[in-house]
Amino acid sequence: MSAAIDTEHYRKRLLDERERVQEAIDYLHEENSGSLEDETQEIQSDNHPGDMATATLDREIDYTLEENSERLLSAIDGALERIEDGTFGTCRTCGRAIDPARLEALPYTTQCIDCKRKEERG
Ligand SMILES: [Zn+2]
Repeated sequence: MSAAIDTEHYRKRLLDERERVQEAIDYLHEENSGSLEDETQEIQSDNHPGDMATATLDREIDYTLEENSERLLSAIDGALERIEDGTFGTCRTCGRAIDPARLEALPYTTQCIDCKRKEERG
């Protein structure tokens, strides 16, 4: 038996989180909108060979952040959909109710802690 979940509470949490993540993505897009070429030329003209690698590395970190943010965003959207269709708070693997404390920390999670741990162990 699963206790009724206060979906309205989680919906608010998810929408807040969604806004925050979307802002982060917008920020990253802005950061990356300058072309890499311009930046590289500038650095090369300074003639410090090490700096180019640094610029490339920074960019890769930004892209990874962006990728993570976009994944998070789709996880949040998925959770909002599950609120709509009434499956929110149910583990997608075993079908049992997800611990409310876990939902409170990670409202977009799709698995209970047991299944998550099993999956991480492989
Ligand atoms: Zn489970």
